[in-house]
Amino acid sequence: MNACPECAGVMKFDSAHRRYVCQSCGLAVNREEMDEMAAKNTSADPNEEKEQRKKDYLKWWSNKK
Ligand SMILES: [Zn+2]
Repeated sequence: MNACPECAGVMKFDSAHRRYVCQSCGLAVNREEMDEMAAKNTSADPNEEKEQRKKDYLKWWSNKK
């Protein structure tokens, strides 16, 4: 299930328009746009947040050395 990059609401795929439409705020984006927005707003996706934390940790680790 996809989460809205703006409000973390439920995104439903609109096959007619080939876009994901947010059920909460009405945001309509295609797959590419959603990935771009999700990359900017990592808190919307718990998995993204985990990845970011891993990166932060690696950065901290390399700075320490
Ligand atoms: Zn939304």
